Amino acid sequence: MSTLNAPDQHQDIRDAVRSLCAEFPDEYFRKIDEQRGYPEAFVDALIGAGWLSAMIPEEYGGSGLGLTAASVIMEEINRSGGNSGAVHGQMYNMGTLLRNGSKAQKEKYLPDIAAGKLRIQSMAVTEPTTGTDTTKIKTVAVKKDGRYVVNGQKVWISRVQHSDLMILLARTTPLAEVKKKSEGMSIFIVELKDAVGKGLTVRPIPNLVNHETNELFFDNLEIPEENLIGEEGKGFKYILDGLNAERTLIAAECIGDGYWFIERAARYANERIVFDRPIGKNQGVQFPIADAFIEIEAANLMRFKACELFDAHQPCGAQANMAKYLAAKASWEAANVCMQTHGGFGFANEYDIERKFRETRLYQVAPISTNLIFSYVAEHLLGLPRSF
Ligand SMILES: Cc1cc2nc3c(=O)[nH]c(=O)nc-3n(C[C@H](O)[C@H](O)[C@H](O)COP(=O)(O)OP(=O)(O)OC[C@H]3O[C@@H](n4cnc5c(N)ncnc54)[C@H](O)[C@@H]3O)c2cc1C
Repeated sequence: MSTLNAPDQHQDIRDAVRSLCAEFPDEYFRKIDEQRGYPEAFVDALIGAGWLSAMIPEEYGGSGLGLTAASVIMEEINRSGGNSGAVHGQMYNMGTLLRNGSKAQKEKYLPDIAAGKLRIQSMAVTEPTTGTDTTKIKTVAVKKDGRYVVNGQKVWISRVQHSDLMILLARTTPLAEVKKKSEGMSIFIVELKDAVGKGLTVRPIPNLVNHETNELFFDNLEIPEENLIGEEGKGFKYILDGLNAERTLIAAECIGDGYWFIERAARYANERIVFDRPIGKNQGVQFPIADAFIEIEAANLMRFKACELFDAHQPCGAQANMAKYLAAKASWEAANVCMQTHGGFGFANEYDIERKFRETRLYQVAPISTNLIFSYVAEHLLGLPRSF
């Protein structure tokens, strides 16, 4: 057995997720991609097997596993040729509810999420005019007669059409009236069936990848007061807490992609004969594959470090950001190497490389762009002046 397939301490989870994924081969994801469809049968199977409720505590019907286990599940989906982007929202959005929601909210939603009756796949933060400068968001929620009335706009909000619940960040106190710009924002649970067409308009955004993502328009959307999560004005902090889990899970997905690219590249380099020899016999072909593999392995160490700290309830912002940066970069390098190794065939849909190539590119931009990770590291780890 090669190092690439050596068993590790998560082998039981890996084997179980791999066997589920084996029922959804390359052709399945290729067809969904061509149709710009949603992998409904795959998501149903994952939910049915309880994989998306891995992090929900047992008292609410989940498995009570940590981020490490959750990240292995996501990694294996991508490593099998699938795309966790269709489902990963459920893992980290559920965490936001679990950590910051009231007892009543948890009792109301978590058992149904664990049972697969409700999906909490969406989180609405990004806005078209403010981008990464989140504290300047313009979507407002104004309290009135036991409800919050929401007006504004969001962009790039994923999986809204395949979710029942959405976490929404909105400003509840105007920026001019708060001491710190990170104050005065709040998060809410939006029950989408009560919202779409009743103050919330959803407009899909066709894009490079088959990723269901949307523009959202809020026009006097009413949200019951009891759907506020945690304390009013503390929403930004709650969102930031959740982002560490999100970044670590995305890092694991990139690691999964990276291994997928390496396996495909190594296999093809062994099989493809040109000039009477396998192309992989040429150092010009095999060294870049080895290089990309080393980068993935190194990124993987940081990913497990971030998971370990998160599961031990230790600060992990630095490791989560660095894991996401390293893994997204390494998977993109592996994608390029895999494409190059396949020559012209890498461009043919039936090899699935161009699809995975597009999918893995996203992670240098979302959920946080590379430059913003650099600025975090420069400012918070190295004590350099804030650059913006
Ligand atoms: C397919 C997809 C799905 C997404 N899903 C969601 C979702 O479900 N929910 C959600 O809320 N958001 C979602 N997003 C949004 C995503 O998080 C943002 O696109 C991302 O954070 C970057 O923000 P922006 O696009 O506004 O870029 P901008 O903030 O406009 O930045 C543009 C570029 O400039 C760089 N830049 C900006 N300011 C600086 C600076 N001061 N110094 C150096 N460089 C800088 C950035 O790094 C970036 O490369 C999604 C995006 C995509 C593409």
